[in-house]
This record gives sequence, C-alpha cells and structure tokens, in this order.
Amino acid sequence: MQETADCKYCRERGKTWNGADPKCGFATGTFTAENWCCAALSELREIAEEQVFPSDDYNGKRWRVNDVSFAIVPAFNADDDLFGYIALSWYKDRGKCGQAYIFYDDDTPKPLTLKQVEMAIDYYRAVRGNYKQIISDALGPTPPAASK
Ligand SMILES: [Zn+2]
Repeated sequence: MQETADCKYCRERGKTWNGADPKCGFATGTFTAENWCCAALSELREIAEEQVFPSDDYNGKRWRVNDVSFAIVPAFNADDDLFGYIALSWYKDRGKCGQAYIFYDDDTPKPLTLKQVEMAIDYYRAVRGNYKQIISDALGPTPPAASK
C-alpha cells in the first residue's frame, strides 16, 4: 500500500475557507490531478506571477487564454542553481491544478515531485522580497546561473 500524507504546505495552512475540503496534490510524493486547493500548488501559482528577480528573464510567468491558465516557474535549489522549469496548468481560478510537470533541457518532462516542490518553494520563500539585497551583498549584480 502506498503511503499518503498531505504536504507540509497543506499541513501548515490547514483549511481556511468554507466549502470543499482541500486535497493535497502530493499525498503520494508525486503530483496527482486529484487535488483541490493544495497549498503547495497554490503557492507555485502565486510565485509564477511574482517579480522576485531584477531581470524578468528569471521570473516566472503566467498566461491565461480564455479560461485555461499555463504557468512556468524557474526552479532553483538552495545553491541558486536552476534544476528545471515547473510547468502548471489549471482551469479558471479554481482549486484544482490539472497538470504539473518539471522540464529540463536535456531531460524528458516528468510529473512534479514533492521533493522538487519543496526545493523550489523554500528557495522562493528565502529570497522573496530581498533578492536584490542578496545579490548585491553576495553574488554581485548577476542573476543565478543555470547548473549542468
Ligand atoms: Zn499539498
């Protein structure tokens, strides 16, 4: 039997609304489309629209055509290395995220894993709002480099 548990983001947020109960998208450790208001997926959707980095090349992006959204979030690890691009798709602004994959140039796209989500979200939480200060203090005026 497969072990299931809500992700740490769902656990820390809990249920903050009336209506359908949340259903974590990573209860098995890998993305499942049987999700509703998973806090990790919601946060990735928000990150896609944030201006975190000084250069727009490094920020996520969201498109919405008719009622279907598609978003890309560059995924960095704690060493500032890009380990992939997270691609998400969902309908209207509803709680279900229909697709979540990780892409990298020389690799086949794969369903997003909780491990990858944790690296990416924890990175954005650490740098959000103070990235400009971090790069001027530590890295100089350059955005993070892609890793091999
Ligand atoms: Zn979750």
